[in-house]
Amino acid sequence: MARINQHYRKLSAGYLFPEIARRTRIFQQEHPEAEILRLGIGNTTEPLTPTIIDGLHEGVSRLASVDTYSGYGDEQGDKDLREKLAGFYARRGVELESDEFFVSDGAKPDSANIQSIFSQESKVAFQDPAYPVYVDTNVIAGRTAGFDEQQGTYRDFVYLPCTAENNFFPELPKEQVDLLYLCSPNNPTGAVATKEQLKAYVDYARKHKAVIIFDASYSEYICDESLPKSIYEVEGAKECAIEISSFSKFAGFTGVRLGWTIVPKALTAEDTQPGELNRTWCRRQTTFFNGASNIAQRGGAAVLSEDGLTECRQLIGYYMENARIIREGLQSLGLTVYGGDNAPYLWLKTPSGMSSWEFFDKLLEETWVIGTPGSGFGPAGEGYFRLSAFGHREQIEEAVARITARLKL
Ligand SMILES: *Cc1c(COP(=O)(O)O)cnc(C)c1O
Repeated sequence: MARINQHYRKLSAGYLFPEIARRTRIFQQEHPEAEILRLGIGNTTEPLTPTIIDGLHEGVSRLASVDTYSGYGDEQGDKDLREKLAGFYARRGVELESDEFFVSDGAKPDSANIQSIFSQESKVAFQDPAYPVYVDTNVIAGRTAGFDEQQGTYRDFVYLPCTAENNFFPELPKEQVDLLYLCSPNNPTGAVATKEQLKAYVDYARKHKAVIIFDASYSEYICDESLPKSIYEVEGAKECAIEISSFSKFAGFTGVRLGWTIVPKALTAEDTQPGELNRTWCRRQTTFFNGASNIAQRGGAAVLSEDGLTECRQLIGYYMENARIIREGLQSLGLTVYGGDNAPYLWLKTPSGMSSWEFFDKLLEETWVIGTPGSGFGPAGEGYFRLSAFGHREQIEEAVARITARLKL
């Protein structure tokens, strides 16, 4: 008899985005005249830049000729792209070998799959609030007994609250944890960890033989040069951290699909020698994955060219200008806003102690603007609200104009 993987039933419903869609639909039915603007989604909106389009075209053209055609490539990614990635890190002072990089179809699948190379018994810790993938995939993997409705948390998981009181970077765990997920710049809070903050975690991980899974998908949004873009800028991190990153927010590849994961050879767990985790991730990828699209990888190589990087910086500058417009608009109303200076997300403290969902309804009703309730990212997100800087400028300006004119505070 076939039986379902019971752990899926423990998931506390895909609540957040379906609930946003439901409330939006009802509002639209009741107000057919309302032109709803969405500042809720973490999805890129602006076209790929010319150098990258050329790279993708070249990838397509190569498939049209028998001399340059290629079928399956290395599951870990084209050697050329892995070398370019190593060069990209070397330019910011991080020395890694190309076979420490694993090219993938994105940071979401990698951050979902990486837990599978670690013991079932691992005690897992998460920033709260966090990108939901880390928690949900550990639920599916069977590392929790179930959801505790009263607490709003999963049993057996360690939640590390990130609130205004700790500048949205968590205190170190008080207990032994084995896997630690960190995301900086952070989705949803927009906060960026300093080198000192990461150093404390690296020291903790080395002392406790824990492994940090560091999601750097937004690293290119860091404008402040003193902030680390890679965890490997911290000494000792190669022994205790895996870094996952992506071309999605960096270069607008959300639909193209391309990312990478770094598993250093120096990385060890309590029961492994250096090199084994690197080989194990390689084994996992070569077994479950047949490599990223060869066209996408040509595009990725173009991103890492000098012109590609310059163009991507401009593209990111566009979104960061959106972030500035939103932040200044909200601040002009006297609202308390975090993030948005080194990340494309603004994290708003809901006014007058409203709950995240109450503010969602208020914003929708009074301004026809959609955002994302902070509580959807974890219990510590209650009382906060995420606005995204991804969008066309006119829409961002219109949304901010409506908020400043119509939101009743
Ligand atoms: C958008 C996002 C990703 C990107 O995932 P891809 O699969 O590369 O598109 C990863 N992590 C976080 C926190 C994100 O917000």
